[in-house]
Amino acid sequence: MAFLEPDHFSRSLFGMVVSPFLPGGFRLPSSKPFAPPARKPFRAEPHRPTMLITQGAYTAIMRDLASRTFQREQGGILLGPKDTPDLVTHYVKDEWGTGRTTSFTISPDHLNRIIDSVRPANMTCVGMVHSHPPGICQASHGDMQFLHRIFSNPKNGGGRFLFPIVCNGKLHPYVVDTSDVSRIVTADLLLV
Ligand SMILES: [Zn+2]
Repeated sequence: MAFLEPDHFSRSLFGMVVSPFLPGGFRLPSSKPFAPPARKPFRAEPHRPTMLITQGAYTAIMRDLASRTFQREQGGILLGPKDTPDLVTHYVKDEWGTGRTTSFTISPDHLNRIIDSVRPANMTCVGMVHSHPPGICQASHGDMQFLHRIFSNPKNGGGRFLFPIVCNGKLHPYVVDTSDVSRIVTADLLLV
């Protein structure tokens, strides 16, 4: 259920040295202290966003996260053009993260290296996707803490962040407002 459980922060992220943020580029969490977010209810949004995923990226996500019986949470990052932040063109599995039955702990150093490698092509990390156990298809409290941790750094903010969850064999297209991660809404999914 949890993408990154709170007790995993101290074990796997606080002690980890992550390369410094580069100007204007998305980076996964640094080792700065974590302040738990205030609990807020989900809000209704006036405009329903659209999540665009290329057929190839969608097939890669579903083949990896939905084609077998659920055993543990898995996931990866979603890459797309920097100037079209709602469009996913590539899925990169986090092969180095730690998946458990109800949590997934990312490997930020590996993923940041991948994000750095696509930056010259004017691409960036437009979102993250992970699987959940059957029947638990919404973002967990641990997921919300993880998002807060990423976007409490203003260099990562601005616009929306795609946060789909694969559950019960389907992709649930959630989108987060990075200025307030409690604003997580279901988008319209459009394959392109
Ligand atoms: Zn989760």
